[in-house]
Amino acid sequence: MRRLFKEVPEHLWRSYRWQVENAVTTKEELKKYLRLTPEEEKAFPTVTRLYPFAVTPYYLSLINPEDPEDPLRRQVVPRVEEVNPRLQRDASENPFNEESSLPGLTHRYPDRVLMVVSNFCVSYCRHCMRKRLFKEGPRSRSYEELKRMIEYVRRRESVREVLISGGEPLALPLEKLEFILKELRSIPHLEVIRIGTRLPVFAPMRFYDERLLALLERYGPIWIATHFNHPNELTPYAEEAVERLLRAGVPVFNQTVLLKGVNDEPEVLERLFRGLIRMKVKPQYLFHCDPVKGVLHFRTSVRKGLEIVRRLRGRLSGYAIPVYALDLPGGKGKVPLEYPYLRRAEGNRYLFESPLGGLVEYEIDEGP
Ligand SMILES: *Cc1c(COP(=O)(O)O)cnc(C)c1O
Repeated sequence: MRRLFKEVPEHLWRSYRWQVENAVTTKEELKKYLRLTPEEEKAFPTVTRLYPFAVTPYYLSLINPEDPEDPLRRQVVPRVEEVNPRLQRDASENPFNEESSLPGLTHRYPDRVLMVVSNFCVSYCRHCMRKRLFKEGPRSRSYEELKRMIEYVRRRESVREVLISGGEPLALPLEKLEFILKELRSIPHLEVIRIGTRLPVFAPMRFYDERLLALLERYGPIWIATHFNHPNELTPYAEEAVERLLRAGVPVFNQTVLLKGVNDEPEVLERLFRGLIRMKVKPQYLFHCDPVKGVLHFRTSVRKGLEIVRRLRGRLSGYAIPVYALDLPGGKGKVPLEYPYLRRAEGNRYLFESPLGGLVEYEIDEGP
């Protein structure tokens, strides 16, 4: 590990600030570390004119510089497919009708509200489902806008949970983050705060900061939803980040996106999910890749997704298997997809396919 940045002393490597200040943002810098293919060279200026590029030295160090198909490289290095008009034709930038309630706010389920508080990240996922936001240049919501979003929640007693997402919410200045958490916590009907962050993956050093951990502890219950996509992202640094969160009383779960060329193989996902539970992170969702403009080339078929989860069932502990889910267009919500083990139901007679192989007939009566 860390073949690329051998000269950086460990105390700087473990500094979040150093990682952010030294993030690679240009083609020239990137070429110092990875040999770009002619296609990548050509695509870089075209793609980055539309969508930003950045990657932390830490994440870059996990990429095999010799392999143009490296699964981590695919997640951060721009490819021409992102702006290919034929490939991305007809796709919507916002197929789920986000921010229909207020700028930055989406209220789809009665008990949960999604707040998008910024549009910058320390590294940019090429498969980001909010790619549209990043075209505007980096910006976080103003205090006025945040107050309006928080007031919205205060006035709706059905809301039990706020999801803070972005962009990267934990890249906000701590004062702004504290303002959001403190205001939300003053709402009596709000029970849980969930923060969606990819920092355990892109810059786990963020969580070596006791001030951040203290905030998360003080304004809890806070859950962290993170986004590991590949077993190569499970490093001792990431493990330390999770360990520190857990010690601060912050549970961590994971949402993976099924991505072509990154993790669309059962063996890869099996290693990922096993690694996650070893790190005490619960794999919660495996999302089918959303049909967002600029991301379509990452999509696999639903049939393939179902086949993959079928291969995992029976081979992995139940709690290591996430729910495979798909977001319906137009903001109609997420639906769980499961391989149909129940083949037939007639009266009280059921026919199941066993996850261990073969068919099982089973008569199940209702209790008296
Ligand atoms: C995904 C999402 C949620 C959360 O759904 P969970 O199933 O609880 O993870 C809430 N609101 C919106 C708008 C969402 O897109």
